[in-house]
Amino acid sequence: MGNFMFDLLIVGAGPAGCTLALNLAAKGFQIAIIEKDVFPRNKICGDALSGKVLNVLKRIPGGIYEDFLKQVDKVPSWGIRFLAPNHHAVDIPFLLNRADGQTAPGYVCRRNDFDNFLFERLKEYPNIHIFQGEQVTQVITYPDCIMAKTQNHVFCGKVIAGADGVHSKVRQSLQIARADKEHICLGIRGYYENVTGLHPENFIELIFLKRLLPGYFWIFPSTGNVVNAGFGMMQKKVISGREHLNHILDEIIVNDPVIAPRFSGAKLVGKQEAHTLPLGTYNFNRSGNRFLLLGDAAFLVDPFSGEGIGNAMASGEIAAAILANSFQTNDFSAEGLKTYDRRLQRRFSQEFKTMSVMQRLAGSAWLFNLVVDKARKNKDLRELLTAMFTNDDVREKLTRPGFYARLLFR
Ligand SMILES: Cc1cc2nc3c(=O)[nH]c(=O)nc-3n(C[C@H](O)[C@H](O)[C@H](O)COP(=O)(O)OP(=O)(O)OC[C@H]3O[C@@H](n4cnc5c(N)ncnc54)[C@H](O)[C@@H]3O)c2cc1C
Repeated sequence: MGNFMFDLLIVGAGPAGCTLALNLAAKGFQIAIIEKDVFPRNKICGDALSGKVLNVLKRIPGGIYEDFLKQVDKVPSWGIRFLAPNHHAVDIPFLLNRADGQTAPGYVCRRNDFDNFLFERLKEYPNIHIFQGEQVTQVITYPDCIMAKTQNHVFCGKVIAGADGVHSKVRQSLQIARADKEHICLGIRGYYENVTGLHPENFIELIFLKRLLPGYFWIFPSTGNVVNAGFGMMQKKVISGREHLNHILDEIIVNDPVIAPRFSGAKLVGKQEAHTLPLGTYNFNRSGNRFLLLGDAAFLVDPFSGEGIGNAMASGEIAAAILANSFQTNDFSAEGLKTYDRRLQRRFSQEFKTMSVMQRLAGSAWLFNLVVDKARKNKDLRELLTAMFTNDDVREKLTRPGFYARLLFR
C-alpha cells in the first residue's frame, strides 16, 4: 500500500472537484484528485447546462469557455417551454433581446462529454496528480493532517474537499448530519431517438404532470436526433406511491395524452437510469476542521429546477478562493474554514429560498395552471419570467407572497 502526501486532497472529479482543481492549479499547490471511476465515465443527468455553468467556465483560467464552445458536442438552447398540468404551454426565452452573433445562454450537453472535457484539462497541470479507479472508503482527521484511504493507497493532505457526489464518503466518514427524505428528490432519464414536436430553437421542456408535482417531466433536445427525457419526483412521494420510477416513465411515455403521441415512433437508446438529487433546502455545516464539502456532497441542487451542475461548479470556485487564503495563513481549522459556509450562504440562501417558494407553488396544480394561463396572455408576465433567469432583484421579489397576489389578480 503506497502513501502519498499532498497539500490538498479532492475526492471526486465531477464538475465540483474539477472546478476547484482548475481554479487553484496555477498557484502551484500539490493537489491529488481521487476518483472512483475511470474517465470518460457515465453520469446520470438531464444534461442541461444553464447560464450559471457558462459563467463559471468563463472565469476558470486558461480559455476553457472558448474551448468548450469550439470542442464539445452540444446543442444550443434559447429558452424554456413550461407545460402546466392543464396541458397549456408558455414559451419563455432566456433573453429578451438577442445581439447578432450572440452565443446561446444555455446548452444541452451529455455529461460524459462535458465532464470528460473538464477532466482532460486537469492533465495540463503537473501539480495536479490524478488517481482514477480509486474509491475512498475512509477519511480520518489527525491534528496536523487529514487522511483518505482507498483499497490501494493512503493519501494525506493538509485539507480535504469532498466533491464525491450525493452519497459522499467524505461526508459520511466525518459523520456530518444526514438529511431526511424531505430534502431528497429522485430522478430517472433515458435517451430517445425520433421524438417529435421539439422547439425549433431547442427550448428545454418542463412538463408539469399532476402525478409528479412538484416534480416535472422533461424533454431536453440533445445531439443526433436524440432527446434526454425523464422526470424528478420527491423521494417521499415515490416511497408512498410504491411505484418503480421506470414503470412511471414508461407509463407516461405510452399513455400521457400530450407526451405519448410525440413518442409514438421513438426508440430508447441504451437504458433508463435513475439517481438521487440532494436539494439545497437542507442546511448544515459544509465545512469543518480540515474539510470542505462541495456540489452534491454539500446538498446544493436547486429545489425547483433540479439544476445542480452550475451550483456544484460555483461551490468549487468559492472553495478555491477560500483555500488559497487558508494556504497563505496555514489555517485549516473549523473556525478558519467557516468563511466557506458564509460565502455559500451569501451565494445561495436567497436563491434557495426563492426556489423553495417556487417548489411549493408548483405543488399546487391550480396555481400553476393559473400562472401559465396568465403568462400566455400577458407579455409583461412573460418578460418578468425571462428576467427571473438573469436578474437577482426579480428573484428576490418571488419570495414575497404579496408579489404573487398583485401579479395574478391585478
Ligand atoms: C436524473 C438527474 C437529472 C439531472 N439533471 C440535471 C440537469 O439537467 N442540469 C443540472 O444542472 N443538474 C442536473 N442534475 C444534478 C447534477 O447531475 C448534479 O448536481 C451534479 O452532477 C453535481 O456535480 P458534483 O461534481 O457535485 O457531483 P458528481 O457529478 O456526482 O461527481 C462526483 C464524483 O465523485 C466520484 N465519487 C463518488 N464517490 C467516490 C469515492 N468514494 N471515492 C472517489 N470518488 C468518488 C464519482 O464517481 C463522481 O465522478 C440531475 C441529477 C439527476 C440525478
